[in-house]
Amino acid sequence: MQCPSCHADDTKVVDSRLAGEGAAVRRRRRCPSCDYRFTTYERIDEAETPRSVRKSNGTVEPFDRGKLVAGLLAATKGRGIGTEHIEQIAETVTDAVRLGGLEVTSAQIGAAVLNELGAVDEVSYLRFASVYKNFDAAADFHREIELLGKLGADRG
Ligand SMILES: [Zn+2]
Repeated sequence: MQCPSCHADDTKVVDSRLAGEGAAVRRRRRCPSCDYRFTTYERIDEAETPRSVRKSNGTVEPFDRGKLVAGLLAATKGRGIGTEHIEQIAETVTDAVRLGGLEVTSAQIGAAVLNELGAVDEVSYLRFASVYKNFDAAADFHREIELLGKLGADRG
């Protein structure tokens, strides 16, 4: 770490302790060139902090990319969609989750997945929608098919 006073490239850590209830490390540093002392904090990059998912029943669980991929694989089974493509969708959805803040809702994730699947394959889209929205009535399927039709029209 560069010295903020004389800009020497190397400074020494003279003390190191936990801060913020263990979420950060506080380091006391000294510059050997000019003897300037300063403090730095080391924290986990927010982008790499695990995300929480709030489900519709109010429970919160960690975001699980593996689960997302499993859901995508189930929805696209036998539809000739390559694993590379599925990984791509998972990546896009994971990015959307990260941008959504430290806590996202399962509805937000579901909508992000449907947005991607809608552009790829109608059957996969409906399969995923049926699981994610817990459809119990045929009417829901019809409504979803109509929505999908509109989506296609909007995309030209
Ligand atoms: Zn210095």
